[in-house]
Amino acid sequence: MRPIVSFDLDGTIVDFIHGFTTLANQHYGIPILSGSQQSDWNLDVAFGLSENQSSHIWGNIIEDRRFWAELPLMVTQVEMDRIVRMSEEFDTYFVTMRTGLAVKDQSEEWLRSCGIKNPSVIVSRGGRVKGLISKAIGATHFLEDNVEVVQAILEQSPGTDAALIERPYNRYGRDFGLRFVKTVDSFLDDVYASVESQSVES
Ligand SMILES: [Mg+2]
Repeated sequence: MRPIVSFDLDGTIVDFIHGFTTLANQHYGIPILSGSQQSDWNLDVAFGLSENQSSHIWGNIIEDRRFWAELPLMVTQVEMDRIVRMSEEFDTYFVTMRTGLAVKDQSEEWLRSCGIKNPSVIVSRGGRVKGLISKAIGATHFLEDNVEVVQAILEQSPGTDAALIERPYNRYGRDFGLRFVKTVDSFLDDVYASVESQSVES
C-alpha cells in the first residue's frame, strides 16, 4: 500500500506565530517571535495578551486576503523541498483549521509558492474533525503539532500513524504516550522507511 500523507500547516510547516506576533507588534508592541518560541498553547498566555487584544488581532487576520498566503516557513528549505518531492510521489494532503477570507485559496497559493504543483488543502471545521478527515482520505501518516488532534486521529482513524512535531507547547503530549518526531525530516524518513519495510515483507 502506498502511503497517503497528511500535514497540518500552522505550527507544523508554517510559522503562523511569526504572522500573529507581527500583527500584535504593530498594535500592542509585543516582540515578533517564531513558533519555536511559543511557550504555551494558549496564545494569550504565551504572549501576555488580553482577551480583547487577541480577538482584535484575530479580527484582522480573518479579514485579510493575504495573511495566510504570506506566512514564513517553519521548516528548513531542504525539508520543504523534500515535502514537494513527496507530494509528487505519494498522495499528500494539507489539513488545516484556518479561518478567514478565501482561506483554502490562500493556503494553496502558499503551497504553490513553495513548489507544490497541485496542492490539496482541506479546511477542517474543528480540530477533532481531523480524525474523521484522516479516516475518510485513508491517511497512513499524519504530522501535527496539536495534542488533542493527534488523540482524535488515533481514536477515529486507527490506520493512521499520527505523530507530533516537537514544540515547547505540546510537551504534555508525552504524558499520553503519543509519538513525537524532532523534525519534519525524521517524519519524512519514517514515511519512506514504511514503504521499504512493506516491499521487504512482500
Ligand atoms: Mg497546527
